[in-house]
Amino acid sequence: MTKIHNLGFPRIGAKRELKFALEFYWKGESSRDDLKALGQQLRQRHWQLQTELDLVPVGDFAFYDQVLDMSFTLGNLPERVQDFHGDALDNYFRVARGRSAQSTSDTQCCGGVAAGEMTKWFDTNYHYIVPEFTAATEFKLDASRLLEQLAEAEAQGVTAKPVIIGPVTYLWLGKAKDDSNKLALLPKLLPVYAELLETLAAQGVEWVQIDEPILVTELDAGWQNAFNTAYQYLQDGRVKLLLATYFGQLAENRSLAANLPVAGLHVDAVNGRNDVLLLLGMLPEQMILSLGVINGRNIWKTDLNTVLNWVEPIAQQLGERLWLAPSCSLLHVPVDLDSEQKLDAEIKSWLAFAKQKLGELQVLATALNRGRDAVKAELDANRAAIEARRHSSRVNNPAVKAALAKIDAKLGQRQSPYAQRALKQAALLKLPKFPTTTIGSFPQTSEIRLARSQFKSGKLDAAGYKAAMQAEIARCVSEQETLGLDVFVHGEAERNDMVEYFGEQLDGYAFSQSGWVQSYGSRCVKPPILFGDISRPRPMTVEWISYAQSLTDKPMKGMLTGPVTILNWSFVRDDQPRSVTCKQLALAIREEVLDLEKAGVKVIQIDEAALREGLPLRKSQWQAYLDWAVESFRITANGVADETQIHTHMCYSEFNDIIAAIADMDADAITIETSRSDMELLDAFEHFNYPNGIGPGVYDIHSPNIPSEQHIVALMHKAAERVPTEQLWVNPDCGLKTRQWAEVIPALTNMVAAAKTLRASLG
Ligand code: GLN
Ligand code: ZN
Repeated sequence: MTKIHNLGFPRIGAKRELKFALEFYWKGESSRDDLKALGQQLRQRHWQLQTELDLVPVGDFAFYDQVLDMSFTLGNLPERVQDFHGDALDNYFRVARGRSAQSTSDTQCCGGVAAGEMTKWFDTNYHYIVPEFTAATEFKLDASRLLEQLAEAEAQGVTAKPVIIGPVTYLWLGKAKDDSNKLALLPKLLPVYAELLETLAAQGVEWVQIDEPILVTELDAGWQNAFNTAYQYLQDGRVKLLLATYFGQLAENRSLAANLPVAGLHVDAVNGRNDVLLLLGMLPEQMILSLGVINGRNIWKTDLNTVLNWVEPIAQQLGERLWLAPSCSLLHVPVDLDSEQKLDAEIKSWLAFAKQKLGELQVLATALNRGRDAVKAELDANRAAIEARRHSSRVNNPAVKAALAKIDAKLGQRQSPYAQRALKQAALLKLPKFPTTTIGSFPQTSEIRLARSQFKSGKLDAAGYKAAMQAEIARCVSEQETLGLDVFVHGEAERNDMVEYFGEQLDGYAFSQSGWVQSYGSRCVKPPILFGDISRPRPMTVEWISYAQSLTDKPMKGMLTGPVTILNWSFVRDDQPRSVTCKQLALAIREEVLDLEKAGVKVIQIDEAALREGLPLRKSQWQAYLDWAVESFRITANGVADETQIHTHMCYSEFNDIIAAIADMDADAITIETSRSDMELLDAFEHFNYPNGIGPGVYDIHSPNIPSEQHIVALMHKAAERVPTEQLWVNPDCGLKTRQWAEVIPALTNMVAAAKTLRASLG
């Protein structure tokens, strides 16, 4: 019998119940007991959906983040919260977000502490709280969370498989605050893991899933050895360990993984399919092999018949030792396709969310265990859906394929090199030295949100909506006149989201109503679904920008999202390489760039906020990604005349290792986030002669604090030590949409004043 199991279930709830409950609690509008009860309800409901599995994940639920949960389980709390005497959950939120709930009586909580740093979970859009270490870090087991959840699961009658993060990955994910060697903590950490496993065994647990996803990254000898040390230490325990890897191939770590003294190994058989046959030859006699055959990272139906063709011979060879599962935790997909009421029926028939993916797993297991005939109807229906999608005219657009085939190197090439363009642009735009600009959005006020929701619900007609948005744009322009900025923006009032806005207007995209995926804590995103060949039926932004330009003599920046960012923030089709999809997006946005230019727009910004996010987990694959990503940007941007100034913008970016690729994009100016790092990010520009304009952010837009003129001047002086002053722009870190006007006006007033001071002192 082939067993089936799951690595983790989305915890946010089909209706984002957890999000709302958390935000209520933080605002002081509900009690801690209410919140805890909701957590329990969600766990129950999610286990209920998994009763057909042989092993059900327990401990995958987290109120904020599973890595932070692990830190608490291991007693690894940052020193600044160690003397807190309130409820542990409140202390947990203090680490997560700097404070707990407003109603918490303990005053310590509300004064706030520094929140834990957050960073991306491998190559997903999920963010975890980075564990903090020093050489003196001690660990101490607190198994209470896991034990409570185990007891709940037992009461519900599910066969629980606790899920924990393995010791090597846990250390790897963290940061040594004192620059000490994290790996040196392993000997102190392992006894706590052993104690945890023993505690679970005492509860009658048979299997524990221990996640070690770093096995799909390039590891140096120190980290490889740590695996041997750790699992030899843990091998005498009474529970069986299922070592779980996901998000990619084991490749050179294959034999390391296969030879660890654990009872089972889970591998991602979607992204790491090539490992599997090789692994079969090296697995020890008794070891279970769990194959992640259902893609846990996308929303497409699995081609079940094809998977069976591949997996049946493996099942024959392994017998009982074969298990099946999704490739990774289902945290990265929405909960339930059944809740989609508005999604076009044809497209819906191609999709599977978490609940549906578990259904697919069941069909596979039945086919393997009882023969394909036992699930003939399901397999036939699946085949029909897969075939229909493959041949649908909604997916295939011959004109797009033809345009793609015609792409040549010329398409991404500006007419003249930067130095010559810069002269022409200077003559046309007549900007001062240290020109000032902003990144695109201005505050999204409650009036804007109200108008949008009224328009969506039909209470406001198209003309009324347009008038409301134009009024906002006019306000933005007049504020910028008063502030005295040099290059204006229209403020993005009409955009809900920088990717969704374009997706909604491109052919080849569909939208879910509740396809939410957790990004961090209570924050969720609803990635649009890119299902077909991409084309642009009509201009998307020209009317708004032309209107904004008509109100001022200052240059108005056209504002677009670039192809790589649109790709990285969407659920993307799996039937062609990402590079091909990206180039289709590039051609569509290129048309918009050229239309803006035709309409007289002289400066066009193309945001690539997510370019760095798309980097593959293995460094050896970076260059291939950067090649097509940069080419896509160039196709989008570089069809314009020399006089048209192209800007790009990136946030949360560290450039040191990709600076050459960024220079290759050949934008006339790049604006980046630097203020929080005190211009440290500009170190990259010191060693690399970046030739074009640079706007290092001088205003941290994530904070309500108003930067003073002196502070901005000081930051720009630091920038001027690394970059020639002729190249420098003065601007905030990112868009201002999350800020209030009352914050933005004084901050930008100081920024403009700082630019004037700089012109006098450094000009
Ligand atoms: N132009 C966008 C804005 O200002 C950029 C947002 C981003 O980089 N994340 O909102
Ligand atoms: Zn940004």
